[in-house]
Amino acid sequence: MKNVHSRSPPWSDALPTLHVITPTYRRPVQKAELTRLTNTLLHVPNLHWLVVEDAAERTALVSRLLENTGLNYTHLNIETPQNLTALKEPRNERIPVGTMQRNLALRWLRENINPSSGHKGVVYFADDDNTYSLELFEEMRWTRKASVWPVAFVGGLRYESPKINSQGKVFGWRTVFDPHRPFAIDMAGFAVNLQLIFSKPQAYFKLKGVKGGYQESSLLQDLITLSDLEPKASNCTKVLVWHTRTESPLLMNEGEKGFTNTSVEV
Ligand code: UDP
Ligand code: MN
Repeated sequence: MKNVHSRSPPWSDALPTLHVITPTYRRPVQKAELTRLTNTLLHVPNLHWLVVEDAAERTALVSRLLENTGLNYTHLNIETPQNLTALKEPRNERIPVGTMQRNLALRWLRENINPSSGHKGVVYFADDDNTYSLELFEEMRWTRKASVWPVAFVGGLRYESPKINSQGKVFGWRTVFDPHRPFAIDMAGFAVNLQLIFSKPQAYFKLKGVKGGYQESSLLQDLITLSDLEPKASNCTKVLVWHTRTESPLLMNEGEKGFTNTSVEV
């Protein structure tokens, strides 16, 4: 019998650790999404995966999946209260999804890693359904304050990107949707140094009174200013992450009671 942990990616004390925060919730494709993301993360050295279930309890499905990955992970859960969830169709884009889960992971990092231990770390928010190149993780690894890069398939564009001047500094946002947001950037388009998270203990994503598209700004405004941003991905000329979204499978033939064996995990 092979040891599943032999799949664990290598660890080197010389490299900063990437703390990758993933909110996730139960739906038919959840295991498929997490399996695909696992297969990506298994290639990344010095990675700590914080998986936060939007659920009242940590589920057996996610627990088993994580156990079998061989990844270095922390499994958390917090349920978004009914009045904040986006169950209604069409989905209200102003209702934040994954926000309480990301905030819980930020709190976990603050409470469980000693800021004076000399631990070098970077924090990245990786939704369970996006597509991540392996290069992306190495681009963000040496983030001093906050790194930024383009993200494909957001804001009705092939990609959105920070605007970079001839000095290599960010001076604005190449977006159509509200380019005057303080940080007009998708969740997948930035990473921050863990020391910054420690040094601003009050910085969280805001849950209430945040307009659609302002979620990222609500955290970043508390942490940094525009001049702190470090453009990555060849001065933001390369796309290394795609905001892909998975189509919901059609399950109408399951009927009311379900047709297939419910003891088979999908
Ligand atoms: N998510 C969650 N609870 C929800 C809906 C979404 O935890 O009720 C998670 C989801 O698994 C994903 C992140 O929040 O990791 C962003 O959600 P989604 O991908 O649906 O958002 P979008 O692609 O529309 O930005
Ligand atoms: Mn998504």
